[in-house]
Amino acid sequence: MQLVKVREKSYQDYLEYLDREVVNELDLLIERLKGKRVVMVNTTSFGGGVAEIMNSMVPLMRDMGLQVDWWTMKGEDEFFHVTKTFHNRMQGQEGRLTQKEKSIYLRYNKLNAELMQDWDYDFVVVHDPQPAALISYRKPRAGEKWIWRCHIDTSTPNPEYWDFIYDYVSQYDASIFTMEEFVKEGAQFKNLTIITPSVDPKSPKNQPLETEEAKSIITRFGVDIHRPLITQVSRFDPWKDPLGVIDAYRIVKKEFPSALLALVGSMASDDPEGWDYLYKTIRRAGEDYDIMIVTNFNGVSDLEVNAFQTASDIIIQKSLREGFGLTVSEGMWKGKPVIGGNVGGIKVQIDDGVNGFLVDTVEECAEKILTLLRNPMLAESMGEAGKEKVRHEFLLITNVLRYLRLFHSLTTEQEGVIAPAAK
Ligand code: UDP
Repeated sequence: MQLVKVREKSYQDYLEYLDREVVNELDLLIERLKGKRVVMVNTTSFGGGVAEIMNSMVPLMRDMGLQVDWWTMKGEDEFFHVTKTFHNRMQGQEGRLTQKEKSIYLRYNKLNAELMQDWDYDFVVVHDPQPAALISYRKPRAGEKWIWRCHIDTSTPNPEYWDFIYDYVSQYDASIFTMEEFVKEGAQFKNLTIITPSVDPKSPKNQPLETEEAKSIITRFGVDIHRPLITQVSRFDPWKDPLGVIDAYRIVKKEFPSALLALVGSMASDDPEGWDYLYKTIRRAGEDYDIMIVTNFNGVSDLEVNAFQTASDIIIQKSLREGFGLTVSEGMWKGKPVIGGNVGGIKVQIDDGVNGFLVDTVEECAEKILTLLRNPMLAESMGEAGKEKVRHEFLLITNVLRYLRLFHSLTTEQEGVIAPAAK
């Protein structure tokens, strides 16, 4: 297990986004939970939505007076290969669970659990399937509450993998899913809670950036800022469908030749498939220099992602499966119309035809891109509607509030009062 260091944050800075009654509720919860010890466990401190949220949520909760640590699991490539397979299979990919996969998965969970023996926390929040079996190797402590936070869509999982993981996750005292429909039918979870992820308006990725500054940042990557820009920010992964985005762009380009496409993607340390898929994407783009493919390896960090999103005319997230798709809210927060795959958490964020479009095919994606390129007024009004939606529903502080409600309900349950699960 490795302790992750995070930047400091101040609760005070977030008050400007909150209504009075939310502040009152937060203050009450903070008073009741002051000093509670919380630990977050996942597999990576960089790349992907979970790390993104943790980097903001951990310091904010700390500033509210909770004692929060964030640990990532230690593992070698063999473990991350197996957990990547688990991740795909839990989202429905076909394949048989092998004895070897089980033993690698359990060996690393056991190894990491041994490093936890001195831990002393009130709440252990375990993110996603990778560390789910830690619970079975940990000597139970009185009062310790275990929460499983599932960030992925497990509504129709591969049954063998689901049965294996379910044995562990059903032992937790509470579980959090992004959407009710992600919970597999018939699964029994204690204190089931629904919490959507969120964007941090104070992070370098989401803080306001002048369009001119954003444009000057992205010229470094060879973008011609005088041409309309379409961007997808995401890991290079089949579920994110970067190949489908390129195909849609090709259709668009025939009718709107000035449009440019940027595919911005970070290589996460727990995603060994990423490189193969990056190469595949580069091959699909071929000799078309109007398609820009940039990663953290050519200097794309939070500020650059912000700049690409801010300077774009349209944001795409054409996923085929998606837990939430934080990049959708990130794009909306920058006032951009977002075209997203009609799947999973994207459907919670995009109201079709209001703040963007939901699409099922490459052709539909191309058609909606063309609609927006040809109607800048429509694009602008959709962008504004999106920003408002994020302000109300998907900001970091709302996410923290929902966690605090759950912690509080678990605390009161422990004291003998049965509290309903916070929704
Ligand atoms: N991201 C990034 N740089 C990149 C690509 C992605 O910082 O080059 C971030 C992106 O801005 C978002 C997160 O990684 O905050 C991806 O989260 P999402 O929920 O969209 O997808 P996940 O990767 O978790 O499946």
